[in-house]
Amino acid sequence: RLRRITGLTPSGHLHLGNLIGAMLPIAAGQHTSDTVVFLADLHALTLEHDPAQVRANTLEQATLLLAAGVDPEAALFYPQSQVPAHTELHYLLECVTGAGEAQRMIQYKEKSARQQHVRLSLLTYPVLMAADILLHQIREVPVGDDQRQHVELARDVAIRFNHRYGETFTVPVAVHPSAGARLMDLTDPTSKMSKSAGSGAGTLFLLDPPDVLRRKVMRAVTDSGDAVAYDPANRPGLANLLEILSACTGRSPAVLAGEFTSYGRLKAAVADAVLALVEPVQSRYAELSREPAYVRELLRTGAGRAREATAATVRAARTAIGLLD
Ligand code: ATP
Ligand code: MG
Repeated sequence: RLRRITGLTPSGHLHLGNLIGAMLPIAAGQHTSDTVVFLADLHALTLEHDPAQVRANTLEQATLLLAAGVDPEAALFYPQSQVPAHTELHYLLECVTGAGEAQRMIQYKEKSARQQHVRLSLLTYPVLMAADILLHQIREVPVGDDQRQHVELARDVAIRFNHRYGETFTVPVAVHPSAGARLMDLTDPTSKMSKSAGSGAGTLFLLDPPDVLRRKVMRAVTDSGDAVAYDPANRPGLANLLEILSACTGRSPAVLAGEFTSYGRLKAAVADAVLALVEPVQSRYAELSREPAYVRELLRTGAGRAREATAATVRAARTAIGLLD
């Protein structure tokens, strides 16, 4: 069986891009492939953070994942910090990673350039991500371009560990996400819709009230033309709206373009489609969020299962690298 992994960082509120690009595909595939879904709370500590906010985001994201259909009996579903194997393997992998290798990561250069006090954990973040992947013996990792270099590092580290200390890890490879949808910010369609970047005005948060979602879509930036056509290179704002509609309806953006005579009508249709997708998730969220203790119990149970599922790999890595067992 195919084995898949997705980590969501509780660095902000989940948005439509997360739902379409990650959460719905996870739920759709969880009964046919071995699925790991974890809340990457340790990754949320690599930048300046508010402890109460990280804890609240972690619970909110877990609840939204359940509301979007993640089945905690089918998938391994847990907070990264409750499975110490992630940090244990992180350390062992640091011992086969060059300091220069970590310093070459583009995302590290970009993020550290924007800050006064750079945490050491920001530098070693890709090694923790390598541990996340290798711990679960994942072969194919579907990632966007922003994470490709990190998967390459995980690959190099796995090959090096296996070569020096004996076959221990499946060597992972980055693959293109199958459902290509990569939603862009509605006010800046050249940047990806994101939890932690952007003003929020161009981000369709899953817990935005329906009227706010509709207003954000109606105010989306387009070009000044009026004919609706699908042309991502020259008309990115319009293309993004067509791709959102395509992702919600399963129909192709080019075909959809032919069905609208004005931007206003297209935006209204996009808003309707987004609400049709999001409102059922919101109502399940409203029910589940009345029982936070239940959600936390599911996560604890998931963490226990994940500790068992990963114990053999950690043991093998410890022994291979020279630790007493
Ligand atoms: P951050 O700004 O903190 O990096 P993010 O919105 O990029 O937040 P992640 O936690 O990095 O979210 O990613 C969670 C999952 O959502 C990943 O599988 C990622 O590929 C997917 N994802 C994130 N943004 C988008 C987007 N705009 N369109 C489609 N999928 C997305
Ligand atoms: Mg991201």
